Amino acid sequence: MKSKQLHNRIFAAAAAVALTLSMTACKSNTPTASTTAAPATTAETTTAAPETTQAPEGIYKAGTYTASAPGLKGDVTVEVTFTADALEKVEITDHQETPGIGTNAVDKLPDEIVKTQSLGVDAVAGATITSDAILAAVADCVAQAGGDAEALKAVKAETTTEKTAENLSADLVIIGGGAAGMTACMRAEELDLSVILVEKMPFMGGAISISGGNQVVMGSDLQKNAGVTDDSVQSMYEDFMKNGADLNVPELLTLYAEHVGETSDWLQAQGVTFDTEGGLHQLAEYSHDRELAYTGSGAGAAEAMRQAIAATDATVLLETRAAELLTDENGAVTGVKASSDSTDYTIEAKAVLIATGGYGNNKELLTEEMQQALYYGPVSSTGDGVIMATAEGIDADTRLMEYGKRYPNGIEVSQGIAKSTIGGNITGWTMSAILVNSQGQRVVNEKASNRTILETELKQEGQMLYLLMDEETFSVWKTKLGGAGISQEDIDGYLKLNGSAAPVFIHGDSLEEVAETAGMDPDTLKATVDTYNGYVQSGKDEEFGRPADFMTMEIGDGPYYLVEQKPRFATTMGGLVVNDLLEVQNTSAKTITGLYAAGEVIGGVMGDDSPSGANNGWAVTSGKLAAEQIAKTLQP
Ligand SMILES: Cc1cc2nc3c(=O)[nH]c(=O)nc-3n(C[C@H](O)[C@H](O)[C@H](O)COP(=O)(O)OP(=O)(O)OC[C@H]3O[C@@H](n4cnc5c(N)ncnc54)[C@H](O)[C@@H]3O)c2cc1C
Repeated sequence: MKSKQLHNRIFAAAAAVALTLSMTACKSNTPTASTTAAPATTAETTTAAPETTQAPEGIYKAGTYTASAPGLKGDVTVEVTFTADALEKVEITDHQETPGIGTNAVDKLPDEIVKTQSLGVDAVAGATITSDAILAAVADCVAQAGGDAEALKAVKAETTTEKTAENLSADLVIIGGGAAGMTACMRAEELDLSVILVEKMPFMGGAISISGGNQVVMGSDLQKNAGVTDDSVQSMYEDFMKNGADLNVPELLTLYAEHVGETSDWLQAQGVTFDTEGGLHQLAEYSHDRELAYTGSGAGAAEAMRQAIAATDATVLLETRAAELLTDENGAVTGVKASSDSTDYTIEAKAVLIATGGYGNNKELLTEEMQQALYYGPVSSTGDGVIMATAEGIDADTRLMEYGKRYPNGIEVSQGIAKSTIGGNITGWTMSAILVNSQGQRVVNEKASNRTILETELKQEGQMLYLLMDEETFSVWKTKLGGAGISQEDIDGYLKLNGSAAPVFIHGDSLEEVAETAGMDPDTLKATVDTYNGYVQSGKDEEFGRPADFMTMEIGDGPYYLVEQKPRFATTMGGLVVNDLLEVQNTSAKTITGLYAAGEVIGGVMGDDSPSGANNGWAVTSGKLAAEQIAKTLQP
């Protein structure tokens, strides 16, 4: 039987926090001759129909018009059909947006626009950039048809929803449908538990859907088949401890290392496959190669998990936000209160699993230092699980809340929000890109670990560095940023700003020119370049030890580019205290009966920093283990 998916309108105020990015101009195409169109489709929705505001009569030149606007992964193209007095049909004819995220806007917005005759409709939560692209392209079509797009933007669709109350019950209620929650759901269903999963966003997926899609597979057949047979729990434990400054919780790290291998093989059997052709990745943090990428990256893994859940009996309540844990007179957790726009649910369960992810998008839960770092994670990471579990009466304990995984290579695409240049940098280091500080000096081996570069960056003026590139390197570097949602149009826009606003992309024909624009001493920058080129010639970086394999090209002819590099983070390292059965502990170090946690919401397994592929690995491993532990506890 298919899972029951109730599509309600988004409730969570927290989820409505938008990762808003600047829009660039639309590309319009001339209208086609057609004046007839299929009738507008009507979205299936459980909410009351919005009060529609009809556009004034006779205001459009009837016909079908097309336009495009940049989405996250490229242009989104729409085709809009108008009668003389109405916007009759909106169709998305081309896009490359992320399955399960951007595609939610593609699926929902066209009908919303037609139904409300408005461009003032809300962006679909989690798909703001795609929503903006659709709205911009439709606005362009409105203008082509002679309508007033600005007036349509001002038309607000009011929804009048009468809420109903509903009582549900299950063996297990899972809060959050990210990698941890979905894995727990899949495993709990295998173990014959009845499951209700509540997810506040319009889709399951969470961070893994936008993640790089790498995962630790230590101890799996996958790793062995890829040629590494001598890795061990001990070796993974030691590598993680070293990377996490020995702050990792020993029993959780051991649990992780002992079970991630079998979890990875089990995932394959569930349909989440790995790119074995790409092979295990070689990484500075690891003594053995133990990381693989998912087939189709993180989005591919999320889609496979959604499909696996759809084939079960699990009840999935989308756009439903859990807000409160229910307890009995002994303090045991007995369920959850959750709400959608249309329904207030009281869900009773024998066990509650919190799998709500991190808190990177909630400044109140971040230290001042972490607040300085740019954020590039999901809008949904608002720490709801920590907030619910630490509420009075539940009193869960937390640890290591001050840490998040920061990378040194963000550009500030809108205030406080980053995108990553890491994809370009990896290629840049094989060419002639170097890092300099705001005085124009080299300060670090560009091939050092992220951690070393970050620590160096944090010591510099403005806590930032610049990537310095010549024309040849820049022309390749800029083509490698698409995966991070940085388009060529974006880059052109940043270059036009030439450092006058973030993100700083300075360019100039000479080193003197870029130095002056950046406020650096030109002689210092020139001396840095001469010295570096000398190291390339001799094959030895006397100052910082950049490996000779990554010093094969001198910094050559201009134009030259300076691109800002700032700390960015998405994943938080702190969270709830759990024991090795993944039971949540209270501030008196006692188990809270009935309450479990999985994934990023758990604090401490990584210490103060996580190595590559570790967080996805932990989410799936802890999700599977939590389901198994709950099934064991509930056995008669
Ligand atoms: C851009 C990016 C790249 C990354 N790359 C990698 C990588 O390559 N390798 C790696 O190992 N890790 C990576 N990570 C980290 C990793 O993906 C996450 O740590 C992991 O997926 C977290 O899974 P989770 O299920 O614990 O939490 P999430 O994925 O955050 O899922 C939590 C879910 O709970 C829902 N939720 C929250 N509150 C509520 C509520 N009150 N009611 C109902 N639902 C709620 C959220 O909407 C969300 O769907 C990356 C993260 C990001 C953001």
